[in-house]
Amino acid sequence: MTTIENEAVRELKSKVSGQVLLPSEPGYDEARTVWNAMIDRRPAVIVRCVSAQDVIHAVRTAREQKLVLAVRGGGHNIAGNAVCDGGLMIDLTPMKAVRVDAERRIGRVEPGATLAEMDRETQAFGLATPLGINSTTGVAGLTLGGGFGWLSRRFGLSIDNLISADVVTATGELVKANDKDNSDLFWAIRGGGGNFGVVTSFEFGLHQVGPEVLSGLIVHPLNAARDVLRFYRDFIASTPEEFVCWFVLRQAPPLPFLPVEWHGKEILALAVCYSGKIEDGERVAKPLRSFGRPIADVIAPRRIPDPRTEIAFAQLGGAVSRVPQEATAYTHRDAQFVLNVHGRWEDPAKDAKCIAWARELFQAAAPFATGGAYVNFMTQEEQDRVRAAYGSNYDRLVTIKKKYDPENLFRVNQNIRPSAEIKRNGDLDK
Ligand SMILES: Cc1cc2nc3c(=O)[nH]c(=O)nc-3n(C[C@H](O)[C@H](O)[C@H](O)COP(=O)(O)OP(=O)(O)OC[C@H]3O[C@@H](n4cnc5c(N)ncnc54)[C@H](O)[C@@H]3O)c2cc1C
Repeated sequence: MTTIENEAVRELKSKVSGQVLLPSEPGYDEARTVWNAMIDRRPAVIVRCVSAQDVIHAVRTAREQKLVLAVRGGGHNIAGNAVCDGGLMIDLTPMKAVRVDAERRIGRVEPGATLAEMDRETQAFGLATPLGINSTTGVAGLTLGGGFGWLSRRFGLSIDNLISADVVTATGELVKANDKDNSDLFWAIRGGGGNFGVVTSFEFGLHQVGPEVLSGLIVHPLNAARDVLRFYRDFIASTPEEFVCWFVLRQAPPLPFLPVEWHGKEILALAVCYSGKIEDGERVAKPLRSFGRPIADVIAPRRIPDPRTEIAFAQLGGAVSRVPQEATAYTHRDAQFVLNVHGRWEDPAKDAKCIAWARELFQAAAPFATGGAYVNFMTQEEQDRVRAAYGSNYDRLVTIKKKYDPENLFRVNQNIRPSAEIKRNGDLDK
């Protein structure tokens, strides 16, 4: 564990406009708490940045003091890499501004904004960019890993809509990354996670969507899953890219639209979203809604739902697959689905049981999968899968890492190492 000297803390406090929090100070515990409640790490100091200048001071301090450095966007990643033990944590949650240029269809977003916060502002103009399905997720981490959701078949991944980013590099410089400036860095941050610097601003292209979309769930008993999924597989082969249907297998939650006798029983839920005209969506979804004998069908015009999932299959393809594999660091362009074995529980006594369940299911499904991995769904123990996550793009990422972060300052993440030899105090895999 690394600690920080008093003098360095005093200097940080004098330079930074946001809060600089030590373990004894109010707000410290709140700032280090992330979505995954199993993560309980205690940074030596937390810098709650309010500007790019604050981020520059924090990065320089971490480097000069040889501190382990963690970066928190929305704090939603299951691996918990937003927080470190000892060392310095950059907390970007105070930076939430979203500015929309409706005429040019561009949204500029700070790195502490959640998906809901970005959607709220862009939807005020009837605009949106593809993001994930869970509104409390951070735009920053989701985008840096790739980012897919209800709009991805139509408009691609979040990174496919990223026009430009401001990045604080390991030397503490603020640079622009886009097709013209630092284009190698721009390539790398589109899928390469937080390995290359701290993004202080994202600029996205926006599309006309909504504000109403046709969406909701069709719920079947799990024992009908074989027939329903066969029908589903054939059905989605010819649906337009505005139509997306993910599916989840889980126990029925006690939701008001499900008959009480089904609560707690195993179900298959089809989660549908149609982002074009409502009447077209009604027509496209009709055959799926008419198949079999669903327990419930709650598809209606609304904003996008937020289903709690256990075993989730996200539908990709469409615009995601039309981008060449080598165009961005994210590599799995040909995958039609992503399987997310999504353990979610509240009682810590169930930790071992639920983790074992997720691992067993993962192993059972692996023979039927491509072998690829999505960095944003990986846990803290999967460093050995980072290469698989980047496939043939991995070597180029290492070259860019050597250029922008040769000392591996940004290593509390799904780490792309600049070289196999570098091991420093605080390396997670020691
Ligand atoms: C319930 C749930 C649903 C999800 N649904 C989807 C989905 O539909 N689609 C999808 O694509 N993903 C989904 N994800 C995965 C999600 O994309 C990742 O968890 C993502 O990392 C979250 O980003 P964050 O900013 O909230 O996380 P954080 O934990 O804050 O950040 C994750 C990592 O990203 C890096 N990072 C964050 N911000 C910055 C920054 N500004 N600069 C540099 N590095 C930074 C850091 O290394 C950090 O450790 C889901 C996750 C969960 C738990």
